Formats: sequence, structure tokens, C-alpha cells
Amino acid sequence: MRLEGLGMGGHPLYLKPRLGPRLGSLLESPGVLNTLTDALGSPLHVVIPDQIAANLEQFRSVYGRHHLSGQVFFAHKGSRSSALLRRLAATDAGVDVASLGELQHALGAGFTPDRILATGPKNPEFLWLAARTSVTVSVDSRDELEQLSALIRKCSLPRADVLLRLSGFDVPGVRVLSRRSRFGTPAAELVPLLEAAERHSDAVDLVGMAYHLDTTSLAEKATALEGCLRALEECRSRGLRPCAVDIGGGFGISYLADGEQWERYTTELTAAVLGARPPLTWGGHGYGLRNEGGTLRGSLGLYPAHRPVAGARYLDQLLSHPAASLGGRPLGALLVEHLYDLHTEPGRALLDQCGLTLAKVLEVREQEPGGELLVRLAAKADDVGLEEHGVLMDPVLIPRPDRRTADQPVAVHLFGSLCLETDLITRRTVFLPRRPEPGDLLAFVNTAAYCMDFHATRAQQQPVARKVAAWQEGGSWRWCLDDQYWPTTSVGGAQ
Ligand SMILES: *Cc1c(COP(=O)(O)O)cnc(C)c1O
Repeated sequence: MRLEGLGMGGHPLYLKPRLGPRLGSLLESPGVLNTLTDALGSPLHVVIPDQIAANLEQFRSVYGRHHLSGQVFFAHKGSRSSALLRRLAATDAGVDVASLGELQHALGAGFTPDRILATGPKNPEFLWLAARTSVTVSVDSRDELEQLSALIRKCSLPRADVLLRLSGFDVPGVRVLSRRSRFGTPAAELVPLLEAAERHSDAVDLVGMAYHLDTTSLAEKATALEGCLRALEECRSRGLRPCAVDIGGGFGISYLADGEQWERYTTELTAAVLGARPPLTWGGHGYGLRNEGGTLRGSLGLYPAHRPVAGARYLDQLLSHPAASLGGRPLGALLVEHLYDLHTEPGRALLDQCGLTLAKVLEVREQEPGGELLVRLAAKADDVGLEEHGVLMDPVLIPRPDRRTADQPVAVHLFGSLCLETDLITRRTVFLPRRPEPGDLLAFVNTAAYCMDFHATRAQQQPVARKVAAWQEGGSWRWCLDDQYWPTTSVGGAQ
């Protein structure tokens, strides 16, 4: 069999997406997807509100298994969808907001202030609305604590519950240091921070300690959690009574169905960078790797697209991890013994399998006869967003219903619709099971977290993609515009 355009005599290097039942069912409904893009244009985002409720249940069951109480705060940052937020408001989850707009969105979606946590860098308006509505504030620094306290006094606002966010943990006797962060107060400056909290106790009530680390390393997170437990001990010795630990987000998604495909792809990419095989990317891009006189340098700047453990199972592993500096007991058991609440702030993990992005194929041509195919889509790289976040994963080809082209793998490069050399949907050479044709759809799955609307622009006056919410009812898919969705719209359950 001739592998058209593969040009390397090899086999296609697929990176097949992992598909849960809801996304899988939607992709098997090409009639719905074609109707949607015919009516609303390309690109088009589809979100699946019932999935976020199902993901929450996974986190709740880990809490149950470890006998822990506390709140799961969805990190709003990862998605601007109203439908997903409103569906979550109909559960018992909380939401972590990191801007004035996100706080207003959460209040408007039906989250009561006791279910909202304000994190991240804050401007005075954001602080004011948080304090005015009695939202708990995760305080980033001593300056912010001073600023909040002053605002509360000046505007006669109610006393605010606060968590203190720490960073830069350094646990004695443990080799793994937690990564540096721009956010949070260095753990070494805990005492002056607590002194400030005591000084401002008329305005703020210290309810717990927090961290958030943007890392996949379990050891680093365990070190940070131990650091928070020590900080809580310090509070108790001073007569303060905080009772919660907030361990932030970063539980992650495993995007790919097959770990071997991922291993094989990264091995071949390394070989390509070293010149041992033809390039696997546009212009020989190395995703952070480079060849210096025959030696491999740099490091792979990609999201680990296949993760053996991610999401709620990652939380489970962290809680089962022994606290090296605290007698080796599992971290979860230590939290239970001290009767501490555990708060989490999953963003990406709660958005797993919650959406996809559809793009119509506009043009397919060969760069040179028999060479790789150049495929132009009715979408910009920013609409898909996977590349920006270092997630390498194949789109799913959805041929027009009348098309019957034979299955024969092809190598393609995917371009966006901007008049810009750099508007590549991905720099990776993508292998598809058959040649796409104009009018076909490519479905980029699992884009709800950070991809579909984080970078949306109106570059070249091209419209921002529309977003619809879809749910299953009586064996078929129904949909509405994202901002028209309310939990009364769908009666879909969390299972
Ligand atoms: C971004 C962020 C999160 C969510 O991180 P994910 O990796 O999406 O789970 C949680 N908490 C804070 C403070 C954040 O900045």
C-alpha cells in the first residue's frame, strides 16, 4: 500500500485522542455536527455540561474514599463557558475565580458566596466585590493582606475569611524542593505573615493555608502539602485556629488513548531532530529539542499528552503519598487525624472530555507531487489552542455524509485561515487515516480546558468561534447556544 505523502517509507505516527462515552457518541453523530457547522459556521466549539458534573463526582468519590471533607472549587480560568459554569452551579461544587469578571460570572450563574474562592492577582475592584459579598479570599502576599484589611475598614465591609497562599516550600531532610512561583508568600516568611494576620484580626479571619503549583510532579506537591501542614501547626502554636488546606489544581488530563503511540512519537521526534530520520514537523521544528553538532540539547516543551495517572486519580495518589518529613504517614490520613478540611481547585481536570472544536476543511493541495498535503481550515490556530498549550493530539476526520473515499493514511500539515506564515494549527506533521476533502470536518477533541476560548481573537476581522452546549436526551443529541443554557434546559444526570 502506498502511504500517500508519508515520504519516509514508514508507518503513520498516530496520536489518537482518548474519547469518553459522551465525546465518542457526539463524534458518531455526524448529522448533528454538520448541521451545527452549516448553521453556525466554522470554527465552532461544543461543550458538554453534563460531563463536568460527572467529573466532579470522580473528585467527590476520592474525598469519600479518604474520609475527607472540604470543597472542590472549579478553577474558572480554564473556560469562559457559561453553560459549564451554570451546570456546575446546580451541583454542590465551589468555584475559584481569579478576576472581577469571573466573580461576577460565578455570582450570576448561581454560586452563593460561601461556594466562591477568590485567588490570583487582584485589583481593588475585585477585592471590594469579594469582601462585599463575603467570598473567601486566598491572599497572595502580605501586601495584599494589608490592602484587603485597609479596604474592609475604609468601606465598613464585613470581616473576610482568608486563606494564606504559600510557595517556595523547603522541607528539612527532603531533597525535592517545590518549584519557584511568582505567586504566594515564601514559606520562609510565614511568621511575619501570621503576625500581620493577627494585627488585622478585626478585618480578616484566617481559615487556612493554600498553595497551587503548576507542575505534574507528585513529589513536589507532596512537599508543598507537608509545608502547609507545618504552617498550620505554627498557627496552632500561636493560638490561631485555621482548619483547612487548599492544595490548588494541576491534576491534569491524559489526552491520548495509547501510551505506546506517545512513546513512539517522542522517540521518533528525537530521531528527527538528530537527523536520523526525515522531519516530523513543519520546518524541522523541535518542540524545544535541538541538534548541536550531533548532540541532543534542550528539553521537550510539550504537555505529557499521555499520563498514566491524571485527574481525580492523581488526587488519590497524592493523598496516599507518605509524608516523608512527618513520620511517613499518608498525607490523606494526616489531614483526617487533624480534622482539617481539604480544598482543591481543579481546572483542567474538571474540564476533561467537556468539549470539542470543529473546523471545516477549505482546501487540500500537494506541496509537490506525491509530497505532504497542505490542508487549510476555516479556523485560526488560536481557535484550536492545543498547540499553544503543547498538547499534541490527532483531530478526528468527519467526512461529508456523501463521501466514500477509501481508507489510506496520509501525512498532512494543518494551516489556519490567517494570512500569516505562522498560522499553523500545529507544527506537527499530522497523520490522518484518509485524505481529507474540502467540506469535511476536523474535530479537535478535549479542547474545553484552556484551548477553545483562552486565546480567542478577532484577528483580520475574522469572527470569534461560536459556542454551543450539547446534551443527550432520549438517545439523541440536543443543543443550544452556550449563553442560552441553564440547568433547566437539560435534565441530563451526572452519569
Ligand atoms: C490555574 C490555577 C488553577 C487550576 O489549575 P489546573 O492546572 O487547570 O488544574 C487552580 N488554582 C490556581 C490558583 C490557579 O492559578
